[in-house]
Amino acid sequence: QPTIGVLALQGDVREHLAALEASGAHAVTVRRQSELDAVDGLVIPGGESTTMSRLLTVFDLLEPLRARLRDGMPAYGSCAGMIMLANEVLDTRPDAQCLSGLDITVRRNAFGRQVDSFEEDLDFVGIEGDPIRAVFIRAPWVERVGPDVEVLATVPDGPAAGRVVAVRQGGVLATSFHPEVTGDRRVHQLFVGMVRGLAPTPA
Ligand code: GLN
Repeated sequence: QPTIGVLALQGDVREHLAALEASGAHAVTVRRQSELDAVDGLVIPGGESTTMSRLLTVFDLLEPLRARLRDGMPAYGSCAGMIMLANEVLDTRPDAQCLSGLDITVRRNAFGRQVDSFEEDLDFVGIEGDPIRAVFIRAPWVERVGPDVEVLATVPDGPAAGRVVAVRQGGVLATSFHPEVTGDRRVHQLFVGMVRGLAPTPA
């Protein structure tokens, strides 16, 4: 069973811990470097990305986290977590830090001018069966994907039709929306499977 951390500085940490436990992982909170060092993969929850950015600096986690991502630690970011994992963020504060785990450009609060929060059923590459119920809460969207980034889901219709809302690059997964609040564990199962596949096998 892989040990997967949830970055627990701010945001909807408990929902991710529960979703990971229900998906076959041992889930732990991460607030310090020793805890980060002990996990096979990390979830960065939804919340508020500029606050999370500031707390990463305060807790001396920014450089350790960047280093683990460079070394290939699998990571999954939902909403604010997607913003944190991007290597370029639009409409954020000039001092906000990002982790550069994904070669994407995201726009914060991108749906906001139309509507703050909404739900939508999405097809999700690699997830079979019923569509995924996606809950968007002051969500970002992805405006640019680098050549090594796979698009996993887009908004099917409405004013934001075609906008990219789920991506993967190697071991790093991100969604604009919050699967941790729906009770459907398939996105977390996908990530747990990625961690299993990428974690070094015990000798
Ligand atoms: N709007 C938030 C941000 O900019 C993200 C919202 C969320 O995580 N639900 O960080």
